[in-house]
Amino acid sequence: MSGKDYTEMWKGLGLNLENHAGLLGVLSKTYKDIYLNQKNRPRAMDYFDFVISEVHGLRIEEILNAKKTGRKVVGAFCVYVPEEIVLAADGVCRCGCAGAEVGSDQAEKFIPRNTCALIKAFMGFKLSGLCPYVESTDLIVGETTCDGKKKAYESLNDITGKVYVMEIPHMKTAEDRKLWLSEVKRFRDRMEELSGKKITVEALKKAAGVVNAKRKALQRLSRLRAAAPAPISGLDALLVNQVSFYDDPLRFTEMTNRLCDELEERVARKNGMAEKGAPRILISGSPMAIPNWKLHAIVEGSGAVAVGEESCIGERNHRDLLDESFSSMDEAMDKLASRYLGIDCACFTPNNERFDNIKTLTKSLKADGVIHYALQFCTPYMMEAYRAEKAVAGTPFLRIETDYSMEDFGQLQTRVEAFLEQIKG
Ligand code: SF4
Ligand code: SF4
Repeated sequence: MSGKDYTEMWKGLGLNLENHAGLLGVLSKTYKDIYLNQKNRPRAMDYFDFVISEVHGLRIEEILNAKKTGRKVVGAFCVYVPEEIVLAADGVCRCGCAGAEVGSDQAEKFIPRNTCALIKAFMGFKLSGLCPYVESTDLIVGETTCDGKKKAYESLNDITGKVYVMEIPHMKTAEDRKLWLSEVKRFRDRMEELSGKKITVEALKKAAGVVNAKRKALQRLSRLRAAAPAPISGLDALLVNQVSFYDDPLRFTEMTNRLCDELEERVARKNGMAEKGAPRILISGSPMAIPNWKLHAIVEGSGAVAVGEESCIGERNHRDLLDESFSSMDEAMDKLASRYLGIDCACFTPNNERFDNIKTLTKSLKADGVIHYALQFCTPYMMEAYRAEKAVAGTPFLRIETDYSMEDFGQLQTRVEAFLEQIKG
């Protein structure tokens, strides 16, 4: 990881230094084994390697410096939290990691053992005193998406005292839209109160431009993955999507566009990451928060290439832009509410848009097969696997339920290999 010594900064944040050193050691080794062993990576991935090496170093230093100037730091665990509102209040927005098996024993004192790994992880990271992001956050914004998260936020608030929850409806009727619009406005008011700054239409316009530019860069990356041969590995593309939740948005956009420039050259020269004829796989389902690289490592380690993620760390996060053509606060709130209510999370019923999107992506990315990935105990995504399979009938489809532990790595590898043989056959 980083060469600079950040011990004093971590101490100041109250981290458990012993646990923290252990976490960084594991992260660094896993990253080296999985990422740095890839061949023929785009040169522009250097930047993303650097971000990972500084994920608890330079980036935290930047966030703490922003705090010293009076800016507020807002954390979230869901793509439903409108980043534009945070930026318009001059805040810093970032999403929690929650992608590693950490502090499960302590988390299980507050939540049942049979809870999805993502929820266990955000509780575990806090309880183990490991995460400098959680510790530097002024407000943690939760949401009422799935039942597990909704109830876990109550405990997280008992522990941190800084959780604010947005109510997400579970249908998309006219009445639900009204409720969600009022929630977006309530969040705007909360951000004004937290920051002591009035959110103006101009500030929202500027924020919309910043966040849309980030989305456009990610959309560009997605489109480039449709090329055959794929110019970038799924592992690298997943990493870029994961980093989008942490990095400074302007710098991230610039670096992602720089990567896309290089990928365009690769496409023109037919310089691919995978072997010729490697099966192209769309991965669909629960989000893969950093540093959850397990399934991609298995798929690509077995000779296939992941060409897309129909996930919140992927398409669901950047597919839709915010309509920037607003000129009043009411219009801005309305457009924000519409943009975010368009997200096709499995917590909604019905959720037909998601199945249409899986079908469209399978076609546009020329996927030879779909792997449906659900975190164990994530009922919404486990339930939707059936309809997802039906939506792409005729395309080989594999359902996987797993968590963050490496215990089932070998078993999953065997299943993925058999699936790839089926595709080749
Ligand atoms: S899957 Fe649903 S609950 Fe999870 S981050 Fe995405 S929108 Fe939020
Ligand atoms: S992965 Fe599933 S169970 Fe876990 S927080 Fe997201 S929606 Fe809830």
